[in-house]
Amino acid sequence: MSKSTYQIALLPGDGIGPEVVDAAVRVLQAGVAREGIELELKTYEAGAGLYQRTGESMAEADAQAVGRADAVLLGAMGLPTVRKADGTEIAPQIDLRERYGLFASLRPCELFPGVPTRVKAEKVNMLVIRETTEGLFAGRHDKQEPNDEAVSDRLTITRVTSEKLFEVAFQQAKQRRATHGTPGHVTLLDKSNVLRSNAFLRKVFDEVAERHPDVETARLYIDAGSMMFVTNPERYDVVVTENVFGDITSEIAAGVVGGLGVAPSGDVSLKHGIFQPSHGSAPDIAGKGVANPVATILSAAMMLEWLAQQHDDARCTEAATAIRRATAAILQDGPRTPDLGGKGTTESVTDAIVTALKN
Ligand code: ATP
Repeated sequence: MSKSTYQIALLPGDGIGPEVVDAAVRVLQAGVAREGIELELKTYEAGAGLYQRTGESMAEADAQAVGRADAVLLGAMGLPTVRKADGTEIAPQIDLRERYGLFASLRPCELFPGVPTRVKAEKVNMLVIRETTEGLFAGRHDKQEPNDEAVSDRLTITRVTSEKLFEVAFQQAKQRRATHGTPGHVTLLDKSNVLRSNAFLRKVFDEVAERHPDVETARLYIDAGSMMFVTNPERYDVVVTENVFGDITSEIAAGVVGGLGVAPSGDVSLKHGIFQPSHGSAPDIAGKGVANPVATILSAAMMLEWLAQQHDDARCTEAATAIRRATAAILQDGPRTPDLGGKGTTESVTDAIVTALKN
């Protein structure tokens, strides 16, 4: 059921995070105003900066409050200079992923006219869906005795997570067909010719596919499928795969469409959704006003599409479509930020998108 007001938690984070979230909020507000949607935005502090000052990366009360929001928009978290005693970076976004069971990472990769790419491709519009809680990461908390001769990692595929993952993939294929004009097709990437766990993954995929006869499917081995991101990316619509295969192929897909500055993402469960750019906190350009806001703006559009699905609210789809159109127009005509070869700033790009949305 559509809501009168959506509660959105903002987690700007570190580095360029606050700059790109501010930009995305301006665009989001302009987009929802067109449709008469009310947003209640609340900002929470989390990340390396907070850890430096307080010794914790996110307050427990805030982590709970974020879980009660209708959706979350996150900037970027972590700084290479701020580390925990074990040497790892501060990453409360990973804690949130685990805490709220966000098992699917959605990484749409669309080639926009005006964005330089090194790949010979014309119409690329794909969505890579990576499982994020099991697969080859399943055993990362397993206890292990120190061993200097051999070390193993565990790859586990469960039916319950795989069924949920594939349901998300088929729903996304249908939603994209309705709102993006994509064919409504799902490709599974696996290594079912060698790994038993992956043969099981394919079996569950086949079962779920039978429940969605209106969506065409393909199954490819991960090696051949990876090559096709470069040689024939147009063949893909929705691509779904195991954790580490998805980690790698989603970055290849982002590279095909012009890099991290234009690559949005969303981590979702059946109930919760956190949307964020695929890039990190980019401390090398933080505070200079040149961060590309497009990945975060497109993440905000994804957030609206997810809210549309969760609450059966067509207004959110309309607002998301308007934001994507306005962003595509500015990518084509400029201004563009320096990472895309332009001379624009975060502010000039954002101003241009907001103006395009108001017209
Ligand atoms: P993480 O491990 O947190 O994902 P990373 O170390 O891989 O981060 P990023 O912080 O994403 O790296 O930055 C990689 C490079 O891309 C840097 O040179 C950075 O300046 C650039 N970059 C990242 N995001 C943007 C952006 N939005 N606009 C312009 N340049 C960016």
